[in-house]
Amino acid sequence: MRILVTGAAGFLGSHLCERLLLEGHQVIGMDNFITGSPDNLVHLAGNPNFLFIRHDVANFIFVPGKVNAVLHFASPASPNPASPYGYTNLPIQTMKAGALGTHNTLGVARAHSARYLLASTSEIYGDPLEHPQKESYWGHVDPIGLRSVYDESKRFAEALTMAYHRYHGLNTGIVRIFNTYGPRMRLDDGRVVPNFIQQALRGEPLTIYGDGTQTRSFCYVDDLIEGIYRLLLSEEHMPVNMGNPEEMSIMQFAHVINRVVGNAAGITHKPAMLAGDDPKKRQPDISRAKQILDWEPKIPLEEGIRLTIPYFKNKLGIL
Ligand code: NAD
Ligand code: UDP
Repeated sequence: MRILVTGAAGFLGSHLCERLLLEGHQVIGMDNFITGSPDNLVHLAGNPNFLFIRHDVANFIFVPGKVNAVLHFASPASPNPASPYGYTNLPIQTMKAGALGTHNTLGVARAHSARYLLASTSEIYGDPLEHPQKESYWGHVDPIGLRSVYDESKRFAEALTMAYHRYHGLNTGIVRIFNTYGPRMRLDDGRVVPNFIQQALRGEPLTIYGDGTQTRSFCYVDDLIEGIYRLLLSEEHMPVNMGNPEEMSIMQFAHVINRVVGNAAGITHKPAMLAGDDPKKRQPDISRAKQILDWEPKIPLEEGIRLTIPYFKNKLGIL
């Protein structure tokens, strides 16, 4: 296949491009580097099956030649307002990537009758009242809260994707991604994994926002990419959750990081992020992915963290 990947210079997008190339496909990567970096793609330069186009997906997209699939991953993805790369500091760009970017990428897919995959998120469930979250849950989202620029643009993106499927008969799919981590996460985007690993490697206490009782479930990137690849090859059009169902509190997670890195500096508390808009619990119900795609994560948390540490050491210049 010849596949367009938007958000190609980001964390997930760069891993996706790599996997698609390994599977023998041709890949067109598109990105405007708003939160991503050319460093994530430098190893693909010169690959005859890879073409990079620097472009903002909020503007009309032209791709030369045939396209068989479109994977729309372009969007800021960190909620942390302490980082200039957090979506609360990029509110209009975030809404444009989710709304206009989804419209433009769906347009490309329609023009080529291509398979379309939307990178959606567990955030569409908001601060969930149903736990764990199944795809059938409609969510609990504040439409004007601090996270709403992300949550609502992704909800709009899902609705538009389903509209193209129902009205135009486009072969669309939606993956609702839960917290995923691994090499190539931006050091300074403020998400919990880069923050904690860096702090631990520097021998500093890990900054827990709030009391640390909020929960998350962390999936290693290779597991997620496997699931996305299976979804791409399927014809499933209803949303599919993907993530690791092993839930833990952020406090427990901090202890895991300190243990694996060997950091004796412990933890420190900071005020809760986004005053009341930080989901209190999150855990995917992945029964649908298991049933439809025969997919579930294989890499345990400690192993995934060990696989991630060398990247951060390298970026920080630690031998
Ligand atoms: P990332 O910030 O590393 O990657 C996003 C990429 O999109 C960046 O390279 C950025 O420059 C690019 N981008 C943003 N707006 C753009 C625009 N208008 N035009 C062109 N490129 C643009 O984040 P990520 O973690 O790799 O997330 C990728 C996708 O997966 C996002 O859509 C995000 O919402 C979704 N997602 C990620 C997670 C996760 O845990 N990593 C969880 C849920 C959903
Ligand atoms: N968090 C934290 N310390 C940090 C960064 C994040 O305690 O330095 C918390 C944050 O408040 C949230 C969880 O870790 O409850 C996950 O945050 P992240 O930004 O990774 O993504 P989210 O799952 O909230 O979208």
